[in-house]
Amino acid sequence: MKFRLITLAAVLCSQMSLAQDSVIFRKISDEIMLHGTCYENLRVLCKGVGNRISGSPAAAKAVEWGKKNMKTAGADSVWLQAADVPYWHRGSESLLIKAGNGQYKKVSALSLGNSEGTGGKVLEAKVVMVANYDEFKALPESAVKGNIIFFNYKFRQDFIFTFQAYGDAVKYRWGSPSIAAAKGAAGVIIRSMSTGADDFPHTGSMHYTDSIKKIPEMALGNISADSLEQYCKRGTVKAKMQSECHITDKPIRSYNVIGEIKGSKYPDKIITVGGHLDSWDVGEGAHDDGAGCAQSIEVIRAFKALGIRPKYTIRAVLFMNEENGLKGGQAYADSAAAKNEHHALAIETDAGGFAPRGMGMEMSEEKKDKIRAFQNLFLPYGVYDFSNDEGGADISAIQKKLNVPVAGLLPDSQRYFDVHHTNNDVFEQVNHRELKLGATVLTQFIYLVSEHEIF
Ligand SMILES: [Zn+2]
Repeated sequence: MKFRLITLAAVLCSQMSLAQDSVIFRKISDEIMLHGTCYENLRVLCKGVGNRISGSPAAAKAVEWGKKNMKTAGADSVWLQAADVPYWHRGSESLLIKAGNGQYKKVSALSLGNSEGTGGKVLEAKVVMVANYDEFKALPESAVKGNIIFFNYKFRQDFIFTFQAYGDAVKYRWGSPSIAAAKGAAGVIIRSMSTGADDFPHTGSMHYTDSIKKIPEMALGNISADSLEQYCKRGTVKAKMQSECHITDKPIRSYNVIGEIKGSKYPDKIITVGGHLDSWDVGEGAHDDGAGCAQSIEVIRAFKALGIRPKYTIRAVLFMNEENGLKGGQAYADSAAAKNEHHALAIETDAGGFAPRGMGMEMSEEKKDKIRAFQNLFLPYGVYDFSNDEGGADISAIQKKLNVPVAGLLPDSQRYFDVHHTNNDVFEQVNHRELKLGATVLTQFIYLVSEHEIF
C-alpha cells in the first residue's frame, strides 16, 4: 500500500511538472511568435550583408552584424573568438556544351568550392558520361585520358528525409576530381546535389587528394544535367570549361561570435546553441545558415525577454567557416579544451529555416530516453521526430574532442535541397512563421533539458 502511494505521488508530481512545462512552452512560443526579431535580423543579414564566404569582406561585416544583435538580444556578455580561415575566390567562370556538329551553348554551372579552376584558360575536351563510380571504374584509361568526366549520379528522390539523399550523393561532389584525375581526366562535371525541378546549379565543398593533379570541377542544375545526359546518349559531346577559382595560400583572421547568459544554478555547465555565419558566395545564405544564426540569437532574446534564467549557462555561437574548412568549430573546441570548460550539451541549427519537425540526438540512450519522456510537450508545435542521430558540422569538433552530447534541430526537409548552396537561397525563400517556430522549439528544448537537469 505504501509503495502504491509513493508511486501515485510520483505520477502526480511528474504530471504537475509536465503541466508547468507546457505553460512555459506556451510562454516561449507566444514571446517568439508575437515579438520575435529573428526574421527582421535575417532580413538585415541577407539584404544588408548578402552572401559571405569565409575570409571575404562580407564575412567580416557579418561578424559585426552578429555582435550587434547578440548585444541587442540582451546577452550578459558578447565576445569574438578568433579563427583563421581559408579564402576561396570564384572569379569568372563559364561552361559551354556542344552536341555533335552543333553550336556551343552556355549552360548554367557553378564551380565547386575549394576547387582549382582552369587558370582562366579555356579547357576544351570531349565529355564522357558515367552514371556512378562503378561505371567509371569499368572505363579503360584511354576513354578517360584528357577528357571531361560527367558524373551523372542522381540525387535520389525516393528518400523522404532529403538529408539521407544528400548523404548518399555528396561523395560525387567531394571526391570525384581526384578519382577522375588519377586516371588522367582533365576536368569533372557533376549533377548538382539538388532535389529541385529547376536549373539552379548548387555549389558546395570538394577536396583534392594530395599528390594527385588538381583538376577543375563544376556542377550543373538538374535541367541542364538532363539535357547533357540526352546529348551524351545520342553521340559525341564536347565542352569548353573556363574558370579562375582558386584558394589563397595564407589564412585570413576571422571570428566566431559568442553571446552568453550565465546559468542560475550551474554557471559552469554550458549548453551551446549555434549556426554558422559564413555562407557560400552565391545567393544570400538565407536558409544556409543565416536562419540558424538568427534563431540562435533569438534563443538568448526570448529567455531575457521572459525573465527566465536557465539553470545552465546558455551560449549562442555563430560559427565561422562551416562551409569550407570548419575552422570556427575547431577553434571553439580548442578553446573549450584549453580552458577546461564543462560542456553539457551542444545544439546546432543548420538544416534550413523551415517548420521544425524534430530534434536529432547523438548521446547515450539513457539521455535520449530522458528527453523522449517529454516529447509530447512538443506535439502542439508540430514536432514529433526524436528518432534521428543528427548533431551538426560546427559542433562535431567539440563532440569529438570533449565527448560532448550533441543535438540538432530538424526542420521539414522537403525544400532545403532546392535552394541549398544556390543563387536561390535568398531571404524571400524563408517564411517568418516557420523561422520563428524553429527558434521557439530550440528555446523550449533548451529550457527543458536545463530545467530538468538532464545533462
Ligand atoms: Zn550550413
